[in-house]
Amino acid sequence: MSTNPAFSSRTQTLQKYLKLDQKNKIMAEYVWIDAGGDTRSKSRTIDPTKLEKDADGKYKELKPEEVSLDLLKNWNFDGSSTDQAPGNNSDVLLKPVAMYPDPFRGSPNIIVLCECWNADGTPNKYNFRYECNKVMEAYKDEVPMFGLEQEYTLMSLQDWPVGWPTGFFPAPQGPYYCGVGAGKVVERDIVEAHYKACLYAGINISGTNAEVMPAQWEFQVGPVTGIDMGDQLWAARFFLSRIAEDFGVKVSWHPKPISGDWNGAGLHSNFSTKATRGEVEGKKGMAVIEDLIKKLEPHHLECIKEYGDDNDLRLTGRHETGSIDKFSWGVADRGGSIRVPREVAAEGQGYFEDRRPASNADPYRVTKVLMTSMFGKL
Ligand code: ADP
Ligand code: MN
Ligand code: MN
Ligand code: MN
Ligand code: MN
Repeated sequence: MSTNPAFSSRTQTLQKYLKLDQKNKIMAEYVWIDAGGDTRSKSRTIDPTKLEKDADGKYKELKPEEVSLDLLKNWNFDGSSTDQAPGNNSDVLLKPVAMYPDPFRGSPNIIVLCECWNADGTPNKYNFRYECNKVMEAYKDEVPMFGLEQEYTLMSLQDWPVGWPTGFFPAPQGPYYCGVGAGKVVERDIVEAHYKACLYAGINISGTNAEVMPAQWEFQVGPVTGIDMGDQLWAARFFLSRIAEDFGVKVSWHPKPISGDWNGAGLHSNFSTKATRGEVEGKKGMAVIEDLIKKLEPHHLECIKEYGDDNDLRLTGRHETGSIDKFSWGVADRGGSIRVPREVAAEGQGYFEDRRPASNADPYRVTKVLMTSMFGKL
């Protein structure tokens, strides 16, 4: 289990340092997405009184809470250490794109989500946000909204699901989904800490639940409009990895962490537009939903390419998934590619769920290919 007895006395010792005054400086944690689909981060100090000059060329006496995204400077990192650049040209540029209150260090400290750029002014190979943002800009009149259900598995440092007997399996699935009680769920403290951290940071987290496989959990972010969806999900993933680190636990984003009769992990992607939500006069939301699903169908393989690695291990047509080779949809059908929730069909408007994306999919790639499949490439 995760409880390392050394942690508690160290945590107490740490408190006396955390209480020290930080003299009006801001600790900014710059976060980026690496080549393996994990987040990385490093810290820098920002002096709010040395950020912006007035007309006479004198620095404005900004207060920490007056620091906005546009005042944050670009930074860089050694991309040769993260497989994001060659050693002989290793500087990768970090461009701040979103800013959140820091749930770890508290106010006035901030989390700064960044895009990665190469020295020659092109987006880094793993910067999927840049193209996604162009698509979101082009189709902003549709007011696309997304809600992503992030499933994940909590693993021991030995890479076995937490709470599972070492090298053995627990009793078959059944009691664990939304389970309550010892023996059914583990690590609820991590889930609760993450929920609060997201709310503190202004992430539009809409809920959490224990999943079908023991040690597997889910949180949902949404509904969120356009590019903010990818930004918020990446921030929420960073928070989870960082919190689990505090508890001595690993987060696995793998879509099939344990093979056999155990549910995989997905990133169900719920989608709506102004028209599907019934906000456009003269159009029936449900008719627009059926139209959009028809537009998605011929793009099945193109979508699957964007929906994460090792997804073939998960999309088997079993364990509440559709087959990876075949596109299908239905109302309340959890065995297809696309599900229209029962209440949406009943109300005649709302959203639909793409159940195909894997838990390790990049939300920028998912939301982009959904848009280009339905509304056309740029
Ligand atoms: P499930 O029954 O598939 O487990 P969840 O409750 O886990 O459903 O997730 C539903 C998701 O749908 C949430 O992330 C929510 O934000 C999202 N959602 C709700 N309404 C909309 C909408 N109009 N557009 C896009 N997403 C939506
Ligand atoms: Mn160095
Ligand atoms: Mn769900
Ligand atoms: Mn789920
Ligand atoms: Mn779902």
